[in-house]
Amino acid sequence: MPVTRLATCNLCDSMCGIRVDVEPGEGGASDRVTGVRGDPEDPLSGGHVCPKVAGLVELLDDPDRVRSPMIRDGTAWREATWEEALTAAVEPLRAIRRKYGRHAVGLYVGTPVVHAHCSAFAAQLLTSALGTHNRYDPNSQDSNPRLYACMEMYGDGLTMPIPDIENVDYLLVLGANPAASNGGQMSLGNARARFAALKQRGGRVVVIDPRRTETVAWATRHHFIRPGGGRGVAAGDAARPVRWGEGRHDPVADRRGERTGRVGAGLWCFQPGVGRRRDRD
Ligand code: SF4
Repeated sequence: MPVTRLATCNLCDSMCGIRVDVEPGEGGASDRVTGVRGDPEDPLSGGHVCPKVAGLVELLDDPDRVRSPMIRDGTAWREATWEEALTAAVEPLRAIRRKYGRHAVGLYVGTPVVHAHCSAFAAQLLTSALGTHNRYDPNSQDSNPRLYACMEMYGDGLTMPIPDIENVDYLLVLGANPAASNGGQMSLGNARARFAALKQRGGRVVVIDPRRTETVAWATRHHFIRPGGGRGVAAGDAARPVRWGEGRHDPVADRRGERTGRVGAGLWCFQPGVGRRRDRD
């Protein structure tokens, strides 16, 4: 009898809740997935999924899907047993470690691996066994400064703050494009609905980006920035405290019981005049 199982999509950091329809296999046959859809009762994503999930059943049934280890002999590929494949992988690794040392081996761990408990733990074990400090993952490409800042601030690079988008009235999107990334780094399933809710309650979404990104369509304001100027904007904002315009509500200052100084905003990063407009935003 078909069953529906609850699961989490591990293809990206948004971690959308999904419902997987399964037809149990009979007479020793494997179970068969017949459908995957968003779980409307998932508290994080509320039923949202991206097109990747819509194609999962086709991917599972794809005749070209690799279903066993493959070994390349010259220019041709052939199927192999797991034992043969692991031996073929381990022997050269051993030889390289013996000759050049353990740090000569690099390891890249992809996003779906770190979002599934079993493979995440296995990757940790493999990293320890290899003993290399050359371990990479998607964060290595674009998030190392963030991880380093988290490590300095919270004592652990993986303890990351995420925007409390349900409770803010102002969201500054600097150099991010959640409409394309599905809010991955914010662990934000259904980013579009959350942006819409923020605006619905009178909040503002300001995007700073050299490009009119897809997220700009969700924003209340977009400021172009000169390419490469993001560091200047961040440094300008960090260097000087915020002064809000006359008569403007400032929840941060209200909480601290003080008025604060003017945004630096690294005016040289903007086209003339844009910096001052952005300060007002
Ligand atoms: S945004 Fe798409 S890939 Fe990412 S978790 Fe959700 S359904 Fe999966």
